[in-house]
Amino acid sequence: MKRIYFDHSATTQVDPRVAEVVREYLLDKFGNPSSFHSFGRETREALENARMQVAELLNCSPDELHFTSGGTEADNLALIGYSLKNRAHGDHIVIGSIEHPAVLKSAVELENRGFKVSRVAANRYGEITPDAVSAAIEDSTILVSVMHVNNEIGTVNDVGAIGAVCCKRGVTFHTDAVQSYGKVTIDVRAMNIDMASVSSHKIYGPKGIGALYVRNGIEVQPLTFGGHQEAGIRVGTENLPGIVGLGEAAAICKAEMENEAEKLIALRQLLHQRITDELENVSLNGHPSKRLPGNLNLTFHGVEGEALLMALDLEGIAVSSGSACSSGSKDPSHVLSSIGLSDEEAHSTLRMTLGRENTIEDIERAAAVIINKVRSLREMAGIHTEIQSA
Ligand SMILES: *Cc1c(COP(=O)(O)O)cnc(C)c1O
Repeated sequence: MKRIYFDHSATTQVDPRVAEVVREYLLDKFGNPSSFHSFGRETREALENARMQVAELLNCSPDELHFTSGGTEADNLALIGYSLKNRAHGDHIVIGSIEHPAVLKSAVELENRGFKVSRVAANRYGEITPDAVSAAIEDSTILVSVMHVNNEIGTVNDVGAIGAVCCKRGVTFHTDAVQSYGKVTIDVRAMNIDMASVSSHKIYGPKGIGALYVRNGIEVQPLTFGGHQEAGIRVGTENLPGIVGLGEAAAICKAEMENEAEKLIALRQLLHQRITDELENVSLNGHPSKRLPGNLNLTFHGVEGEALLMALDLEGIAVSSGSACSSGSKDPSHVLSSIGLSDEEAHSTLRMTLGRENTIEDIERAAAVIINKVRSLREMAGIHTEIQSA
């Protein structure tokens, strides 16, 4: 049985073209970029080439880009590193209420260190509106952090409009772009974005590598201590195989993003159509059109989401309930609760995130299995209710 992977927002398979490049920097080109000999010079060159590839997809200058161990560390550095460095200017920060835990927990850490945090509520589509951000900004606000694309429901925020608000109010604007980078157009200049986090393993690159863009003129306090790498912002010998992998992954996205988005929107719509043609009481979470191309987040009313997830897994179909980080916990997803779902509805919700290697055949088989499993789980639930009320 061919397995079908519909969990690309959790992680992706490394693109074979990326793996080829990574292999070269594991086996042949292993020098330390800080060394002066030829081994060092060739990896230094590769490091700077990758920096350019990653920067191009953000429209920032390569010297504004600092490699980190991933999206989490980039978010930590943006929130904690920036706030600690700029404390003299104010002690208030604004974040969206449905951010990734890497941002949410950085904000809690800042509260523990005496900062004040406002959390802006999302509307029913999961959008954080520029007006709501504007209303939350105070005289003492030094930083706003709002994600570009939500990892669970796929809603795309208008970060350009939020950036304009922050620019006008003189507040630094960070966006967690981990889910949008390489999939949705992002231009830090046009959108007035001062800091942005990206991660390699969400764009078919290796795990454990990411980057933080920090606009020239913005200062961030390092959270690592040692050498002089990455402009002193993130020190320690560079993860060269990871970095060249991220660079190659970014270059592929730049070349293929437009076609890939078109393909994924069509596959997502087909999957959605097949399911709703056959099943009643299925609702879409997130924005109907302003969403990540490959994200389909559905509530199957009356069905236990975990049971459905396991039934699909037995058929080789991988989906997720809520977010990857919160599966394993019984609490309903904070994102789904925030956009107005009841606990029961949140527990009846699955996230299906399509990606590069998915085909129409995958969609057709998955749709048939999902329809079948939802029907039988609903039947069993019905029988169960009848027995209980008899
Ligand atoms: C995956 C993800 C992260 C964390 O990135 P890692 O590279 O896994 O540390 C942060 N934010 C969002 C929105 C994500 O989806």
